[in-house]
Amino acid sequence: MTSPQWDASYTAGALPPWDIGRPQPAFVRLADDGLLRGRVLDAGCGTGENALLAADRGADAVGVDVAPHAIERARGKAAERGLGARFEVADALSLADLGLTFDTVIDSGLFHVFDDDDRARYVASLAAVLDDGGRCYLMCFSDRQPGDFGPRRVSQDELRAAFAPAGGWRIASIAPDTFEINLLMEQTAAQAWLATIERTGDAAPPADAAPPAGADSPA
Ligand code: SAH
Repeated sequence: MTSPQWDASYTAGALPPWDIGRPQPAFVRLADDGLLRGRVLDAGCGTGENALLAADRGADAVGVDVAPHAIERARGKAAERGLGARFEVADALSLADLGLTFDTVIDSGLFHVFDDDDRARYVASLAAVLDDGGRCYLMCFSDRQPGDFGPRRVSQDELRAAFAPAGGWRIASIAPDTFEINLLMEQTAAQAWLATIERTGDAAPPADAAPPAGADSPA
């Protein structure tokens, strides 16, 4: 979908299926475990519930989304609740433009909206703003979810391919979880993967890279 199409999903009378008006339970558990900490980015934050959760637990939280109406609503909630979370209209495919870096990234339902090309751009964009040692908690629709409504299904192998060691990533875990959703196709939950992904920063050099200066050359 284009940015105006995403924005339209927030102005069309009924709430979009994913906007449940409270944080996703999976992220509440992470917050309860003290894991939404430091400088937190909520990428594709929608109306901001997960970023607001992080802010409520003491994090320095920033949410970004391409949909201006979602950001307006998120800012309204932050003001109503007296929380310091900041919200910006921004493209998650070019996060370096924010001029900020983060300890923790929340992705609740963003990764699974991208096609293969944008998926690679998104992972590179995350790499540019997540500090080494930082973590990304990513929840996406799982290939165990039957039917074809909603976003594309993602397999564990696809997650492992996207966040490969050669790109400076380490997948700490991928666990089955669930998205709560507003009633869609007679369902109020969808099968998900919750991935914990660490930024190691040890990206492999490109295959054709020159050896570092001073390296011994084979005799
Ligand atoms: N995280 C929110 C919203 C999930 S729906 C929640 O859990 O409720 C996916 C969100 O990603 C939508 O709000 C959509 O506007 C946003 N989005 C889609 N493409 C984006 C992009 N390139 N950059 C930033 N946000 C994007």
